[in-house]
Amino acid sequence: MSANNRPDPFSRRFNGREENRFRVLRALYAHPGSTRTELAEHTGLSRPTVSTVADELMQSGLVTQHEDSQPRTGRPPVLLSLAPGAAFAVGVDMGHAHVQVAVSNLSGEILGDRRADADVDHDPVASLDLARDLVHDVLEQAGVTSDRVIGAGMALSAPLDRTSGAILAEGILPNWSGVQPAVEMQARLGVPVEVRNDANLGALGEHTFGAGRGVDDMLYVRLSAGIGLGLVLDGHPYSGTSGIAGELGHLRVKPDGLICRCGNRGCLETVASSAAVARLLASSRDEPISVERLLDLVARGDRGAIRAVSEAAQAIGEVLASVANLFNPQLLLVGGDLAATGDTVLAPLRTAIEQYAIAPAAGAVTVSTGALGDKAEVLGAVALILGASPAILAAGST
Ligand SMILES: [Zn+2]
Repeated sequence: MSANNRPDPFSRRFNGREENRFRVLRALYAHPGSTRTELAEHTGLSRPTVSTVADELMQSGLVTQHEDSQPRTGRPPVLLSLAPGAAFAVGVDMGHAHVQVAVSNLSGEILGDRRADADVDHDPVASLDLARDLVHDVLEQAGVTSDRVIGAGMALSAPLDRTSGAILAEGILPNWSGVQPAVEMQARLGVPVEVRNDANLGALGEHTFGAGRGVDDMLYVRLSAGIGLGLVLDGHPYSGTSGIAGELGHLRVKPDGLICRCGNRGCLETVASSAAVARLLASSRDEPISVERLLDLVARGDRGAIRAVSEAAQAIGEVLASVANLFNPQLLLVGGDLAATGDTVLAPLRTAIEQYAIAPAAGAVTVSTGALGDKAEVLGAVALILGASPAILAAGST
């Protein structure tokens, strides 16, 4: 749950009984396999209250108990966990040119996922319909009926209002003007939908399932057709007062540069997005270059393609040096299209951070690619719902 007091679409007003249920469920989400005594410590509730609430949650099928399998003398303690099959979470990632979906059980086990190409930028209706069909497929394959799904998280490549889910910038996704993504998806899936910026969910995905597990201060930079930054600070996702924090791609790096799709001039995206790099190469090679072709050329050792990616990474790294100074992260994970180039993008990023961040900030941060590849965003969308599951379930059956 969020550590701050800003409005949160998942926040609930609980009565006393629900509040106790919420505390026990939240403690079991964070510490699966806890004894009743440990739960009393985690929740601040008395041991008898924990036992009463836990018994009630077991009766409603939300919590299971099992004996500690560690060898020990004496009677093994009884451990409590969330019941994996009690509820399910759906994730949807609407990329610029693909839709990806996944479903997990309550303990975060991914039961299935699907991906398909789609012209998300230009055809919102067909893309939303496709996402619905993929979700239905993956639920059916996993044997999960939609009445057992507590919600769907959804990643979108645009700045989004954290409360309303509305797209906040015209021009970023031009054909989505007037579309309310969460409302549209909710109508198609019949479950509550929460939508977030893709880089924010990429950060949450790596933090929950990937290379950022257990790291309290981490950043995730997404290098694709757009450039976004997701922040996890002090163990919590941070998206700012209205959801815009981390719009790294629209920092001005070139005062006399190109006009950006956001309407400003010389944004980082105009020189360093995967699309900008591919365009640069297209003009030098006098042939159309897709991002896939760009990545293929880098993999083949093409000097021009490697130079184009390296110079983009240098520009991104100079900006990330300032970000390292501002937030002093322990870990900086690189995701998105350009992460597939590995050291071609990582080496110039590391060098620029060493050159331009102050030494203690540069020395504290490890820069690497994420562990989840192109699944970071869809798994972050799943994690968004799992993180909200204690609140949803505490209020759900009263
Ligand atoms: Zn811009």
